Amino acid sequence: MAPLVLVVEDEPPLAEMLCYNLEKADFRTVVALTGEEAIGRAEIEIPDLVVVDWMLPERSGLEVCRILRGKKETRHIPIIMLTARGEEGDRVLGLEAGADDYMVKPYSPRELVARINALLRRSSGVNNSSIKEYEGVVINLDSHRVTRDGHMVHLSPKCFKLLETLIDRPTYVFSRDVLLGKVWGGDVYVEARTVDVHIRRLRKALNAWDGPELVRTVRGAGYSLDAALNIN
Ligand code: CA
Repeated sequence: MAPLVLVVEDEPPLAEMLCYNLEKADFRTVVALTGEEAIGRAEIEIPDLVVVDWMLPERSGLEVCRILRGKKETRHIPIIMLTARGEEGDRVLGLEAGADDYMVKPYSPRELVARINALLRRSSGVNNSSIKEYEGVVINLDSHRVTRDGHMVHLSPKCFKLLETLIDRPTYVFSRDVLLGKVWGGDVYVEARTVDVHIRRLRKALNAWDGPELVRTVRGAGYSLDAALNIN
């Protein structure tokens, strides 16, 4: 069956245009005109992906993201945020709220479809599998083995857990606090700086055989696994 996309857009003509383009690309669509409606629909229909406009009356797209990420039933659904704003700070806010990708209006329908397909490929490849892959990095959760372009990568248990967390949601920026919670289980004696130290070790291990930098530092926000955007 064709993947179902939930379109959250408060302006009916824009929603209609979006659905038209998605249906032309062989997706099924369902529309929500408010954030509230989106949350209800997502819970009932469990779409394969959500496209949400940032600017919505009452509940914003950011809030919708946070709420969907907070619920067990909808946590796994990929989300693309649409927005008229294009500043880096807003982009980080959107990604922190749980969006997997971000497009600035006016966007090209073809690019949107391409990004939807990329996200769907990623989420279907990851589900129910003990193997996770990103840009040549393959992590096997059963054997705890990691390779990059076929070369074995040796990681400490904490670095392994760190990579496992990052590779779960490529391009998503995890804050130090979130990583502390996920990797160190919120151990109160571990400082945020410990995350930086392990990120450095992870980077070094992944780069042992060259290849582009994959671990991205986002100043003031945290870290992500992102091959496309290399800062620092
Ligand atoms: Ca809007």
